[in-house]
Amino acid sequence: MRFYDKQGLRYYQFESFQDLPVFHAILTRRGGVSQPPFNSLNTGGTVGDDPQAVLTNHKRIYNAFGYDFSSRFDVWQVHGDKIVCADAPRSLDQPHDRADGILTDKATVTLFMRFADCVPILLVDPLLRVIGIAHAGWQGTYQQVAQRAVEKMTACFGSRPETIFAGIGPSICQRCYEVGPEVLSLYQKHFRGDTRHYFQNKDGKLFLDLWGANQDVLFQAGVKHIEISKICTACNLEDWYSHRGEHGQTGRFAVFMSIRDN
Ligand SMILES: [Zn+2]
Repeated sequence: MRFYDKQGLRYYQFESFQDLPVFHAILTRRGGVSQPPFNSLNTGGTVGDDPQAVLTNHKRIYNAFGYDFSSRFDVWQVHGDKIVCADAPRSLDQPHDRADGILTDKATVTLFMRFADCVPILLVDPLLRVIGIAHAGWQGTYQQVAQRAVEKMTACFGSRPETIFAGIGPSICQRCYEVGPEVLSLYQKHFRGDTRHYFQNKDGKLFLDLWGANQDVLFQAGVKHIEISKICTACNLEDWYSHRGEHGQTGRFAVFMSIRDN
């Protein structure tokens, strides 16, 4: 990934998206106004942070990138596999849909999601100019939310999976991600094929590889162009919020995406 610093906001972009008709940013936790333990660019409104600080952080992001805050579309992320296609921004008095994937083909809509260890999966169909973000923690991954997002791109907009570019963003690495045996059982039940290579057994403990699992979900969906950031949120707490690394007392970093009108 490439690193940028703009007006004190530090963010990353996928190399493979550079020539695509999209502006995207995966924002680190730096450059906002929230106080510890939410310091400082927290965009999560349900984690206990001051709502005014969260709103200021959102507006700071939109101002820095030159987008109108009223263009935002976001959802209430619930660790499921529902995908929503957005034709218009979400007005501030309109309740959030409960979903874990958002898509649009409208340049007037900016997509916005929040993360802290779960995997951000960014999707771009450069031919039909469709973009999307999916949210895949251990639950969304075994429910194959990334594949549901690709299927929805095909159903709603006619995208062909082989032309889609996917990015797997900063999220928890396998070494940091111990899980219980019930998680292995769920993967064995819900995944086609052998899931054991996503689980490393070390000293009687199980560690889950969310990056590899989501890459396989995308391959299974027919996506061929996949970039993995290989940045771990829990290993790099100075830049990222990590639910696991900070024992639940933390904020949420932002993923921002918009079709570039050119
Ligand atoms: Zn790590």
